[in-house]
Amino acid sequence: MPMFPAFVQLRSRRVVVVGGGPVAASKLEALLNAGAHVTVIAPEVRPEIEGTGVAIVRRAFHEDDLDGAWWVVAAAPREVNRQVLAAAEARRIFVNAVDDPENATAYLGGVVRRDGVTVAISTDGRAPAISGLLREAINALLPADLDAWMTAADAARERWKADGVPMPDRRPQLLQVLNELYQTRQITVGGTPAVQPRGVVSLVGAGPGDPELWTLGAMRRLADADLVLYDALVDAAALRRATRARCFCVGKRARRDSVPQETIHRLMIRAARQGKRVVRLKGGDPFVFGRGGEEALALAMAGVAFEVVPGVTTAVAAPELAGIPVTHRGIASGFLVLAGHTSDAVDRTLRAVRPDTLSIVMLMAVGARAELASSLMAHGWSGDTPAAIVCSASTPQAWTWTGRLDAMGAAEPPAGIAGVLVVGEVVRVRDVLAASTRSVRVAPSPVAGGPSEVEGQPDQRRLAKAGHYGSQTR
Ligand code: SAH
Repeated sequence: MPMFPAFVQLRSRRVVVVGGGPVAASKLEALLNAGAHVTVIAPEVRPEIEGTGVAIVRRAFHEDDLDGAWWVVAAAPREVNRQVLAAAEARRIFVNAVDDPENATAYLGGVVRRDGVTVAISTDGRAPAISGLLREAINALLPADLDAWMTAADAARERWKADGVPMPDRRPQLLQVLNELYQTRQITVGGTPAVQPRGVVSLVGAGPGDPELWTLGAMRRLADADLVLYDALVDAAALRRATRARCFCVGKRARRDSVPQETIHRLMIRAARQGKRVVRLKGGDPFVFGRGGEEALALAMAGVAFEVVPGVTTAVAAPELAGIPVTHRGIASGFLVLAGHTSDAVDRTLRAVRPDTLSIVMLMAVGARAELASSLMAHGWSGDTPAAIVCSASTPQAWTWTGRLDAMGAAEPPAGIAGVLVVGEVVRVRDVLAASTRSVRVAPSPVAGGPSEVEGQPDQRRLAKAGHYGSQTR
């Protein structure tokens, strides 16, 4: 049965939070913002909770803790949440149990809150992930100048009250007011309103790093762009040579956080609506991790014209540049690409795969290499399976390690650079290639005019770019 949606007035009402960990802490801000009188009950309480000034009772939960409460958050272990639910039911209080739907009677869906407007999304508990996706899409859909809408609406309401405007007339008047907000922004040529130029967003793949791996499509979009929003791993100097557009790095930079995903959506949509040609330049391929799919959805929901220009994914190119083919006849007839930073998801996938049948490539995984190696072995991969770590592929900082799976945790890649993990018999191909510098091919270079075989002493710099199979092997 569908749930009943409602917004609840908690001002000056008693709210009890059971639990003192990070999950409980994450719930406090919204409750305090709503003016609730919050009491936290837990044997141990995190310092960030103490810092909020809420009342704290340091002991286990008793059922009479709920006396006089209007709302309860159960953020404790499941057995405790169950007691909370029983006590709350007896007192007819709704319980929001965090990540524990069985012990809840009130559910908080995805919430978008901006400029005095709140949109809450529920999937009736079926697909919280969809709520999250829709939250970003809806946020992008809301007008960028929502605060101006709200101010205009406040002023209109004052006038209606003063003038006694009847209800049916109010809505058309409000639309009129909002339309006036935009009149000043119309583009005019020679006194007559011109057709608004139609903006477009291109989600473009920038490959693993070296601009030689940008596609012709990418080059063309960059040459025509008015605005480029690029990721941290994109070569900024090459970008400046390729475009006259205004370029902003929206990825994580030294000491600076990345721009929030919602802000990226908003920037793209606003620029496209102003008629600009926007390039969103993303590492590798836009639809392989990196949230390109979400960006496309946000654009589609906002009704903005967009296209996707595929790029060379590091999932294939990084191993390749290190001399590792992700498939090889007789050794691996397929490869599995996983995001390594969410160990639960990796675990679930590995449960469904027979060990040693596929090559495994993991992105966003270098930091968790030890846990991931253990996890593979726990799922039946043998400790002597060949493994590789390939970092900064296609750049002068390229660094590669190869060894046994059970030694991967102890490898020491340079700190702070992007890399992929590769596990499977295909890694051995690199060792064979590395044994013969004759087989090292240098990538086509605009100066040399074409591919060439390197004999004798290879040019270290060019080989680093093309993927020198012999470097840094242990
Ligand atoms: N869309 C991208 C992946 C984005 S996730 C693609 O298709 O490649 C970011 C991850 O990509 C990093 O954590 C790292 O695993 C990988 N990566 C990016 N650039 C890399 C490079 N030059 N060498 C090795 N791995 C790289």
